[in-house]
Amino acid sequence: MFDYIIVGAGFAGSIIAERIANELNKKVLIIEKRNHIGGNCYDERVENILVHKYGPHLFHTNFKEVWNYLSNFTRWDVYHHKVLAFIDGKKAPIPFNFNTLYEIFPNELAKKLEQKLLQNYKYNSKIPILELKNSHDEDLKFLADFIYEKIFLNYTAKQWGMKPEEIDSAVTARVPVFIGKDDRYFNDTYQGLPKEGYTKLFHNMLNHPNIKIMLNTDFKEIMKVNFQTHKLYFFNKEFNGKLIYTGMIDELFDYKFGELPYRSVDMRFETIEKEYFQENATINYPNDYDFTRITEFKHIHPANSDKTVILKEYPQKYVKNENTPYYPIFTKENQERYNKYLEYKQSFENIILVGRLAEYKYYDMDDIVKRAIDISVELLNENI
Ligand code: UDP
Repeated sequence: MFDYIIVGAGFAGSIIAERIANELNKKVLIIEKRNHIGGNCYDERVENILVHKYGPHLFHTNFKEVWNYLSNFTRWDVYHHKVLAFIDGKKAPIPFNFNTLYEIFPNELAKKLEQKLLQNYKYNSKIPILELKNSHDEDLKFLADFIYEKIFLNYTAKQWGMKPEEIDSAVTARVPVFIGKDDRYFNDTYQGLPKEGYTKLFHNMLNHPNIKIMLNTDFKEIMKVNFQTHKLYFFNKEFNGKLIYTGMIDELFDYKFGELPYRSVDMRFETIEKEYFQENATINYPNDYDFTRITEFKHIHPANSDKTVILKEYPQKYVKNENTPYYPIFTKENQERYNKYLEYKQSFENIILVGRLAEYKYYDMDDIVKRAIDISVELLNENI
C-alpha cells in the first residue's frame, strides 16, 4: 500500500515525505506520536499571539538552497533575533561583543579590553569562550574568566548539568565571543520567520494526495522490527519499502545497547495581563533563578493584544515516558554508545535514520532541512 513509511512529522520526516510525494510520485505514510505535525517547530495562537510550543525557533541559514526550498511553502517576515543576558543586575547583549563590553565595564576598562581584542583577533571574527580562556595576555585572561563565569558556567550547569569543558566544545562555541559590534544572535545571510507560522508551513508542505498522516500513533503500535530476521512488519505484514525513522534510535532497537541520555526542558508558559513583559524577545539568566531564559513571543511575531505570553525554560533530565527528549548530550561516552546502534543499524537494509534524535546530533533547523533534502536526492537517484 505504501512505498515509504516515515516515523515523525518534524522537518526531517515532512521534507522527505514532500519530496517522495512530488518528485517520485510514490505513496508515503507518516506516523506521528503527537497530536500535531511540525515536530518541535509546532506553533499555535494563544491570546492571538503566535507561540512556539516547544521553545523559540528562529530560522537562520547560510544555505541559499535551504531558504529557497522552504520559500515554496511560506512567505517570510524579516526577523533578526537579539538576546540580552542578565549580568550583575544589568541587561547586556550576547553573544558577548563590543557593545556588551561597554555596557558591563567602566568606559576606560572597556576601551582597553576592546583594543586588546583587536590587537589579537580579526575584526568581525568569532572566538569560542574555551579558546579565549587559553589566552596568555593578562587582560584577555581576565576578560575570558569574567565571560566564562558570568555567562557560561552557570547557564551550562542549568542547561546540561555539566561544566562547559565537560561537554563537546561545539556546544558553547555556538555562542562565541564576537570581535565587533554586531549584536544579533545569528549572523547568517538569510534570517526570518514563516509569515503565518511554522505549523502552516508544514501544512502546505504535506498537503498532497500521496501523503497520509497518522497522528496520535506510536509507531510500535503498528510496526514491528524483527531482530532475528532483520525484517520490518507493518500491521503484521512484511514491509518491503523503506522506513525513514526520525525518532530515538535507542527506542527503535529496544534499548539493546542501553539508553542514550538526552536533556529535556520543562517549558512553562504564562499569559500576562499587560502589553509587554520585557524589552526584547529573549533574556538569558545565566546566574539568577532556576530557568535559563525568558522568551516573549510578541517580539518575535508582532500581534494585536493587550496581553502577552512568555515562556520560562527549566532544563531537566530526560526520563523515558515522562518528558520530551530535546537535546542529545554530547559526550565521548554517549557518542560511543550511539556508534554501537549505528553499526547495528547497518544490518537493516531498508532503514534510513535522520534527525536530531535518530542521528544523536545537535542539528539546527537549517542543517536538518539540508540533510533531508540531500537524503531525498539519494532516494530520487535510487529510483532512476
Ligand atoms: N550558553 C551559555 N550562556 C548563554 C547562552 C548559551 O552558557 O547565555 C551555552 C550553553 O551551554 C548552551 C550553548 O551555549 O547550551 C548553546 O546555546 P544556544 O542558545 O545555541 O542553545 P539553544 O537555543 O539551542 O538551546
